[in-house]
Amino acid sequence: MALTGELFIGRRRAATAQRFQAFDPAHGEALMPTFSAAGAAELEAACALADAAFDSYRSLPPQRRAEFLEAIAGQILAQGEDLLKRAHLETALPLARLTGERARTVGQLRLFAEELRAGEWLGLRVDPALPQRPTAPRPDIRLREIPVGPVAVFGASNFPLAFSVAGGDSAAALAAGCPIVVKGHPAHPGTSEYVARAIVAAATETGMPDGVFSLLNGPDTALGAALVTDARIRAVAFTGSRAGGLALMKVAAERPEPIPVYAEMSSINPVVLLPAALAGRGASLAREFVASLTLGVGQFCTNPGLVLALEGEGLRSFIEAAGTALEAVSPAVMLTEGIQRNYVRGIERMSAAGGELVAQGGAGAHTCARAALFSVEAASLAHRPMLAEETFGPASLIVRCRTLAELRGTLERLEGQLTATLQMDAADQPLAQELLATLERKAGRVIVNSWPTGVEVCHAMVHGGPFPATADGRSTSVGTLAIERFLRPVCYQGFADALLPPELRADQLPRWPHRFDGEYRVGRAE
Ligand code: NAP
Repeated sequence: MALTGELFIGRRRAATAQRFQAFDPAHGEALMPTFSAAGAAELEAACALADAAFDSYRSLPPQRRAEFLEAIAGQILAQGEDLLKRAHLETALPLARLTGERARTVGQLRLFAEELRAGEWLGLRVDPALPQRPTAPRPDIRLREIPVGPVAVFGASNFPLAFSVAGGDSAAALAAGCPIVVKGHPAHPGTSEYVARAIVAAATETGMPDGVFSLLNGPDTALGAALVTDARIRAVAFTGSRAGGLALMKVAAERPEPIPVYAEMSSINPVVLLPAALAGRGASLAREFVASLTLGVGQFCTNPGLVLALEGEGLRSFIEAAGTALEAVSPAVMLTEGIQRNYVRGIERMSAAGGELVAQGGAGAHTCARAALFSVEAASLAHRPMLAEETFGPASLIVRCRTLAELRGTLERLEGQLTATLQMDAADQPLAQELLATLERKAGRVIVNSWPTGVEVCHAMVHGGPFPATADGRSTSVGTLAIERFLRPVCYQGFADALLPPELRADQLPRWPHRFDGEYRVGRAE
């Protein structure tokens, strides 16, 4: 079905006079149609609808919200090849990658539906009344988690499906019971429109209140800032640049009533090559590293942007093998011209700061990235911290450490990270054990013997980490735990059963997992 370029204000479509276009980064050509840019009126309407929908949406039984999420998954698949072809045009990501990303998107919606039915997220606790307690009587005290309110979701450029309109942030917020107002990424408005259609169709199919979802587009930052400023928005989810995340955090903090911003921003994902692993399988580690570094033209937040190892023959061979593998990497088109420009600047910054160029991949035209590998002594890095700033794309820095103390010191000086990886063999166990405490402090996910790219969507995943990896290292944006960002606990004291929320009433409580007087009780699934 042809794209219309309209905005989605709840169930209503809207067109405005201010228009913008998407670009095909592979050919530098503007793509039809033109898209409406949202102004103050559309923003007001979307926020008012989301606010009005909040109480009825959050009061639906979890089962109903689960059906909504499953219907979104079905409707995304029903968009068929049109969705994938448009995403390919707008992002230059290969169709095979986009097909996989669509499967992940659909899979995470279905996983959140299962999570809703399982009910652990409700966080139910009951401390029954103790009227005869000798010290002082205790009233009946019960707790459940409730959704925070309408959430502003910013679509990410590098995941047009899995972290955009119906991506992980949207799935988590909708599962929690929060209406969402999505600020689509301006690089892929056509992809956003197809997915928005799927959400609206699913909302109609499952009888969701009008306003549970809106999509606003716009080609400049004013729209996003205005959205975060709106008093009816209660939380923000964002994936993108450090500058963008920090700007939105500032806007949110300066509101009369500040709100949390869950921003996933910047990470270089250190990989430590421990001596036995390096000696035993350095050549294969080098090939695996280059494959991880250049996957998706390096446009992953989990890209291995820093490698650390002790100086020696093992490291010299690793650097040589990685350089050879990198030189064979073909240039590839990046997501947008802006991202490619930032990448070129990042490479220049690394050179200017004293990064020694080990190797470069093939050079290409236009919006292509040329993979690049640098190396530096740990002692130099200590004086040039800008070398350890994220260069978004297929660039990485190998840090040569003369001593273990230098390696430890380099890790200690790093900012917060999404991941930290150890490549190790059995003989490296004592050293790994020693480094673990530092890595836990620095990163949200510590990995042994695989590579950081590739994030499993599951119950135990953490895609988060201390600043600047994220704005709030106590949370994750991938996996079912991501729902917690959009919930807050409420305590009900002295309530008669009939007045309690349904999940806490005597007849429903046994169905859900809960703590009763401190003791864990498993729910009796329907
Ligand atoms: P971005 O510039 O941060 O933009 C992401 C979204 O945030 C867009 O919708 C953008 O709106 C909005 N935004 C940005 N700055 C804002 C501000 N000051 N106020 C209000 N809204 C704002 O990210 P991008 O376009 O995806 O890529 C640019 C750079 O971000 C890349 O070169 C890379 O360095 C980094 N990036 C990092 C990751 C990661 O996972 N670490 C992922 C993607 C990108 P407008 O575009 O309409 O202004």
